[in-house]
Amino acid sequence: MDFKIALIKGDGIGPEIIDATVPVLEKVGKVYNHKFYFQEVLAGGCSIDKIGVPITDEALDVCRKSDAVMLGAVGGPKWDNLPGDKRPEVALFRLRGGLGLFTNIRPAILYDALRDACPLKPELADKGIDLVIIRELTGGIYFGERGRYIKDNVEVAYDTMPYSVHEIERIGRVAFEIARKRRKKLCSVDKANVLETSRLWRQVMHRLKEEYPDVEYSDMLVDNAAMQLVRAPYQFDVIVTENMFGDILSDEASIITGSIGMLPSASIGSTSFGMYEPIHGSAPDIAGRGIANPLATILSAAMMLRYSFNLEAEAQAVERAVADVLDNGYRTGDIKCENSIVVGTKEMSRLVCENIKKL
Ligand code: NAD
Repeated sequence: MDFKIALIKGDGIGPEIIDATVPVLEKVGKVYNHKFYFQEVLAGGCSIDKIGVPITDEALDVCRKSDAVMLGAVGGPKWDNLPGDKRPEVALFRLRGGLGLFTNIRPAILYDALRDACPLKPELADKGIDLVIIRELTGGIYFGERGRYIKDNVEVAYDTMPYSVHEIERIGRVAFEIARKRRKKLCSVDKANVLETSRLWRQVMHRLKEEYPDVEYSDMLVDNAAMQLVRAPYQFDVIVTENMFGDILSDEASIITGSIGMLPSASIGSTSFGMYEPIHGSAPDIAGRGIANPLATILSAAMMLRYSFNLEAEAQAVERAVADVLDNGYRTGDIKCENSIVVGTKEMSRLVCENIKKL
């Protein structure tokens, strides 16, 4: 099959990690007989430098007309003092909003070979971590009405957290469908003991669970979920939650698996189109040195194969190749441990390519 992929290299280590991911996709194409067509799109600080804006309408249009977007990372100290609406991160908001990407999917997996990097007690790490957080991305308190006013001569600020039945239902369906393809367990996280939005959220989820009797469903309050993630992360398969809770819980889930350089993410909407990126930033401190860990981006490409192209075997082939390279002792500097063989970005990419086989 043929697929069109828009490539946003971005800033800092962005170009290095995207350049390390393209050969992996080309190898998958060769082994499984697919053709990937890549088109580069300018966004982030590099776009500000060249054209004066974080992303142009034309660039957005190229993304929209592709089957998927792969993003490195944007931003860096060079652009830190620009006003809010001119900063590189605006490109991310325009991409997510403009492309209707309302679901963020973040797996948190503890690889056997990286068990030592897990900050939890060894007996907990031994039970394994393999969960996915599904976060609503375009609603809730980050997008609700906000403002400031004066009451009794004192300044007051407020933010609101609106959610419609439609917004809850569409993210709920994505979560149930993903749970169905995994271990069939879904935990919906809310704050229904306090928030009206959460009570509506729970009501809609309970209606949906009747349609998915094969999925074991549970509710959990967000404060308990934050505790359970460090107390017994092995209990979770799929977690679904609203925007702000998901923002916080997905960062917590990332850190318990060890390195930020290992964690992929996907943002999808109501079609197969999606945007795929590592969860880390542009790492300006190591940019241009050839030492960045490309695995989070390579694993994001695996998510693209799974969620946008419906190529499950190909996605697993990439994930298996990454696990094999780690099992063979190869590490980039950020995940090195005793007796590991430290390699740079390009060599890590070459090793993953070498290990991709038809499953
Ligand atoms: P960061 O994730 O870029 O870096 C944090 C630390 O992790 C650094 O020490 C870095 O060297 C290390 N690190 C990150 N990715 C790595 C990798 N692949 N391999 C090895 N080490 C890696 O976070 P930050 O320093 O807070 O942010 C730097 C810039 O990135 C900022 O301008 C920020 O706004 C931007 N940012 C962009 C995105 C995005 O594009 N989606 C996300 C987060 C931050």
